[in-house]
This record gives sequence, structure tokens and C-alpha cells, in this order.
Amino acid sequence: MALGEALESPGMTPVGRFAPSPSGPLHFGSIVAALGSCLAVRQGGGRWLLRIEDLDAPRTVAGAAEGILRTLERFGFEWDGPVVWQHARTDAYREAFERLQTGGWIFGCACTRKEMADSALARDGTRRYPGICRAGLPAGRAARAWRLRVDPGVVAFDDAVQGRVVEDVAADVGDFVLLRADGLFAYQLAVVVDDAEAGVTEVVRGADLLDSTPRQILLQRLLGYPTPAYAHLPVASNAAGEKLSKQTLARSVEGAEPARLLVDALDFLGQGPPVDLADADLATVWGWALENWSMARVPRRRAQPVAGYG
Ligand SMILES: [Zn+2]
Repeated sequence: MALGEALESPGMTPVGRFAPSPSGPLHFGSIVAALGSCLAVRQGGGRWLLRIEDLDAPRTVAGAAEGILRTLERFGFEWDGPVVWQHARTDAYREAFERLQTGGWIFGCACTRKEMADSALARDGTRRYPGICRAGLPAGRAARAWRLRVDPGVVAFDDAVQGRVVEDVAADVGDFVLLRADGLFAYQLAVVVDDAEAGVTEVVRGADLLDSTPRQILLQRLLGYPTPAYAHLPVASNAAGEKLSKQTLARSVEGAEPARLLVDALDFLGQGPPVDLADADLATVWGWALENWSMARVPRRRAQPVAGYG
């Protein structure tokens, strides 16, 4: 093997990514995910990529992506290579979709939300697909969406923070949508294609996405992609115990003091930063973080609310 090939082969250099959706400004929980994903790979000399998940155009807020990039820069984040925008990646998603279709893994589904309203709820709150169109569309009906045929069997993986995760996707979720009724490729497919193409080896993100991971691993297997290592970080909540998000009107960090907020994020992630680090400059905070980061110290859950960031 030539030296160049050795350097480029997967697994030698860790590759991580942060993938915000531009549905609003970054909040404390987003900085926690950005910081954890960055430190996890940077400490091992790895590459850290940035991807804007703007596939869902109706949820995209004008100017939000630019605001996210500016905020990350102000907090001292430095990503490798160009930013990847999902809205420009449709051809890659279609290619993967057609590959699954050729393999017989895709079927058209005519069901409306109303027709599935009696179906059991999946863990993520969506309806478990009852399999109505699996053997073919009902007479006189046209496909609205396209689903992946999910065979019974468990998907298991070892999460660096959450431990062993086991799910029977067929039983819990059922056949899930890959191409939506509105013509957009589903989040699960886009993430899997993007991560594989970018050579991502470590997915570090909020535990609110833990339920998506078994579906993504299934897709990786069907598409012949390697499965990255996973670490799902505790989710930040407000005083009412709700996950910080645009829906809970989480405060934007755009106006926050970067060094202080990064130290709060390190503390949230169980890293035990010294109290006076919050008064240091940004470079000193990053230096401490890179030197002291340990995924083993990240708590599985963080029950106490994050004062001031809700
Ligand atoms: Zn159907």
C-alpha cells in the first residue's frame, strides 16, 4: 500500500462533524453538541466538519445558517474544509435511494396520516407503520411517499456515553419513509449518505437523536457503508425540564460571552473545568479543553436545568 493510501484509509484519522439545522440561532444545547463533537476528534488530531442540515426547506429560517457560522467563529470553532449544505446534495441522496430501490428495499406507500392515526406510537412519537402497502398499493391508489422495507431483527450498538443500545426497528418503527410526500428525501437517509461520503468515523450529538441511530445503522448496512462510533451527549433542559430548542424558546447564545459559555458547556459535559477558567481568554479555554477532554467523564443524563440558558 502506498503511503498516500495509508493516510487516507478510514479509521486512521478520526473525523467528526457538527450538523445544525438552520431553524433558528444556536442555543446552549447546540454549543454543547458542537463542543463535544469537536473535542472528541480534535484531541486525537482528527478533522472536524461542519454541515448545515437545511434539507427541510419549510423549516429553514432565512439568515439562520449565516448566523450559526458567525456564532461558531466567535466561539473559536474552526472546521475543516468547506461547509456542506444539504440542499445542494439531492443528487447524492437520489443515487443512494435508487440503489436501495434496485435492491428491492423500497416500496411506494399511499397511506395518509389520517389512515395511520390508529397505529401504535414509535419511541420518537411518530406512528409505527402498520405495513398496509408493503405487498403492493391498494387498488386505485397512487404512492405518496416511499418507504424502506425493514426486516425483523435487532440493531445493537455500544454508545460511548449511553452504553449498549438495542432496538428492533421493524417492531418499534416499522417501514420508515425515505422519500417524503412533499418530494424531499428523509433526514435519516441524508444523514447516512452525508456522513459516509465525508468519511465520518465518530458521530457525537445530542441524546435526542439516539432513537434515530438504529435506523441510520440499518441504512448504512444496506448501502454498504461503515458504521461510525457513536456518542450521544446529555440533553440540556430548561427550568421546566424541557429540552432546549427553538420550540421552548431557548435563549440564543449569539450575545453570550464565549469563554464563559464554553466553560459552562464543559462543566455541563462533566469535564470539571476550574472555576477561574471562565475569566481566561478564549484560547486558554480551548487549550484547557483539548488537553483535558475525556468522553468517559460525560454523564449519561443531566437532570439539573442549566441556569440562565433556558
Ligand atoms: Zn401505506
